[in-house]
Amino acid sequence: MERSLTQIAIDELGSTVCLCGGPKERKKSFCVRCYFELPMELRRAMFKTFSEGYAEAYDEAKDFLRIHTSRLKGVQKDLFTAGDAERSK
Ligand SMILES: [Zn+2]
Repeated sequence: MERSLTQIAIDELGSTVCLCGGPKERKKSFCVRCYFELPMELRRAMFKTFSEGYAEAYDEAKDFLRIHTSRLKGVQKDLFTAGDAERSK
């Protein structure tokens, strides 16, 4: 089942486990360590509301962590396929 970017973002905000596998606070996008790997622009974007485009910004932040850092190494790739499908539309 494919989830929308918004649904994924909502599910992951409600989780207490960061994508890297570490603990995070509910309603936060990432754990502190992942968060501080993000460039300033993306850190700020994590405080957007859904109507301001939070889900897209969150997806971008995940891409950043996956491509530019080793934080998400070992994370299953299918976590990201919904976002990729969304962009290719
Ligand atoms: Zn993390």
